[in-house]
Amino acid sequence: MGRAVAARLNADRSDAAGARLPCACGARARYAGRRRKTFVTALGEIVLERAWYHCADCGRGFSPRDRALGLEGTALSPAALRMTGLAAARVSFAETCELLRELAGLDIDAKTAERHAEALGREIADDEMAVVERKPSDARTLYLGLDGTGVPVRKEETRGRRGKQPDGSAKTREAKIVAVWSAETLDRDGRPARDPGSATYSAAIETVAGRDTDAEPPPFAGRALREAERRCSGGAPRRAVLSDGAPWIWNWAEEHAPGAIQIVDIFHAKGHLFDVAKAICGAGTDLADRWGK
Ligand SMILES: [Zn+2]
Repeated sequence: MGRAVAARLNADRSDAAGARLPCACGARARYAGRRRKTFVTALGEIVLERAWYHCADCGRGFSPRDRALGLEGTALSPAALRMTGLAAARVSFAETCELLRELAGLDIDAKTAERHAEALGREIADDEMAVVERKPSDARTLYLGLDGTGVPVRKEETRGRRGKQPDGSAKTREAKIVAVWSAETLDRDGRPARDPGSATYSAAIETVAGRDTDAEPPPFAGRALREAERRCSGGAPRRAVLSDGAPWIWNWAEEHAPGAIQIVDIFHAKGHLFDVAKAICGAGTDLADRWGK
């Protein structure tokens, strides 16, 4: 099947559209014959012979057919790239190759999977920052959950960072997450339950602290703001921010979600109450236990 597609494409030489074509640099590129390149597609490997244009001004070349087929600067077709991205987001690059071989008969090595998946990741990250596509909701209340947790990282990634180890070094970095969801339905016990499919997330290892004089909010504050804008703009009349009570979250909520109801989740609220009980009645005493309960 892949071969038949390649044969039809290679028989069509209309991609050599004249002796010269405009180059991205503004100069004109000259037709330099047909060049062969191997691509991995959802139908397997194909070899295409495409018209090639070379620009003497900037020294670069391009293929109009690669452009038309979404193959420019890559060895994977859009469908093969999509499959690689989906697999690589879940399993290791080596396992990605095994899966693609087993499920689709694609022959990609781990390095290729890594290079393409990481390029795709950078593109998605840039897109998240540049485009805030609003998804209005008709829910009466939208919940914003913010949290952070330490994730183990390699030594070189914590160099120069202060941490909780006895010698002041760090073994982890904090990943922060913002989630937005609605809970209009009730469960069997009559408690609000998260609406299926309503949750969206955005997470990164980013700082939330900044200076008052900074023109832009710190990276994570901006990320949480964008996610809130995507989901909450003009929609829900009520917003609630759920948190474990960490000061950075309340600071974010005060500044970027004014008027939102601030809720400490029940698990941490209980923990804080028991801390109060220990402080008033003494740690480990019956009285502290009774007061807490
Ligand atoms: Zn050029």
